[in-house]
Amino acid sequence: MVGIDSKKVICPKCNKKEIIGYGWQEEKQIYFCKDCKKKFRTNRLKNKTYSSKIITNAITY
Ligand SMILES: [Zn+2]
Repeated sequence: MVGIDSKKVICPKCNKKEIIGYGWQEEKQIYFCKDCKKKFRTNRLKNKTYSSKIITNAITY
C-alpha cells in the first residue's frame, strides 16, 4: 500500500507522478494526470488515523 501525501501525488489510474494542479472543488484539490489524461481529486481526511494521508479519487465523467 502506497502512502500519498500532498507532496507526492500519484495518479490513481496509472500511478505516474506526472500530475499537475487543475483547480479546486469545494475544499479538495483537483489534479490532472498528464500521462493518462485523467482528472482526480484528493480528500484530506480529518480522522486522526489518517491525518497525514490524502486519498485520491478518480473523477469520472
Ligand atoms: Zn494517470
